[in-house]
Amino acid sequence: MAMALHDPQAGYYAQHDPLGRTGDFITAPEISQIFGELIGLWCADLWQRIGQPEPIILAELGPGRGTLMADLLRAAAIVPAFRRALRLYLVEASPVLRAEQQRGLAAADPQFVDSVEALPPGPLLLVANEFFDALPIRQLVRGRSEWAERLVGLDAADHLAFIEGPESPALSLLLPAKRRALPPGTIVEISPAAAALAAALGERFARSPGAALVIDYGYFPSGPGPTLSALRHHQPEGVLDNPGDADLSAHVDFATFAEAARNAGAAIWGPCPQGRFLAALGAETRLAALSARAGPEQQALLASGLNRLIDPAEMGSLFKAMAVTSPDLPAPVGFAGATVSEGE
Ligand code: SAH
Repeated sequence: MAMALHDPQAGYYAQHDPLGRTGDFITAPEISQIFGELIGLWCADLWQRIGQPEPIILAELGPGRGTLMADLLRAAAIVPAFRRALRLYLVEASPVLRAEQQRGLAAADPQFVDSVEALPPGPLLLVANEFFDALPIRQLVRGRSEWAERLVGLDAADHLAFIEGPESPALSLLLPAKRRALPPGTIVEISPAAAALAAALGERFARSPGAALVIDYGYFPSGPGPTLSALRHHQPEGVLDNPGDADLSAHVDFATFAEAARNAGAAIWGPCPQGRFLAALGAETRLAALSARAGPEQQALLASGLNRLIDPAEMGSLFKAMAVTSPDLPAPVGFAGATVSEGE
């Protein structure tokens, strides 16, 4: 999965801008400006709660076309001191998207880094929308007595095919004890990369003030897979059909993410369904304000865009928001008492 997405020559992100109507998939900030604007207010509010540090690092993981950040910065300008205090850092692997982000966000003088570890020390606000679903996963298959790994090999016709590795107690240990006793044939996905990043963020917020807002599609509580899927030109296809030419992603396991960050010393808020989170942040008020200045066609577009983000039948429920904060902070806006219930 890592090779298919990131190989410097043949990798998906090395060659494509995947977003938008002409690309392979579309994300919330590309659907409605309200998404990034509300996140900008969320950040400005948190900056005030952590004592208005100057400077503060504002970082985004996987900023795509830079649309969320552009909307965020515009909204954040209503708190001029926050806008002045922030130093923008973008964690981006794709050279194609880095160039696009640099063009769109040049006025904010973005610094590019390869990883969260490469961010300078100090107070940090971090946002990540549809980033964690792109991190590589491993699939484990329950065998007769232990777990095995689902691997990628070649079939008799030299086509990529799934093959099952040997059962091993060492693989069983990669799963939490309560998830090991599932029926033979069950596939479970784990993302060591996501868990390591959650732990790194948790450690950082335990030591120095800050917060991360993670929005993605995924499950809570943890469930069996497989959820690994491929999208090309907005159509699903087999995950082994076109490596390097299709987007690959998997559901984010919010419970495992939360546990890793909490064990490292941070506080966790949510996850909360995206629809409820955006509503709590004032999405309807913002829609009304924008609509008041728009013509009828534009009004309809604004309303349908926001509806797509909020409606539980669209992105409102499968997508979830979770915050990781320094342990002494009060509930961030949008998270007071709004946690996903079982199975939502
Ligand atoms: N957040 C954007 C884009 C989501 S697509 C939006 O909501 O529209 C995923 C983004 O993460 C892309 O920018 C991709 O290049 C980046 N990305 C994926 N894996 C990455 C990795 N391991 N390190 C850094 N960036 C990565």
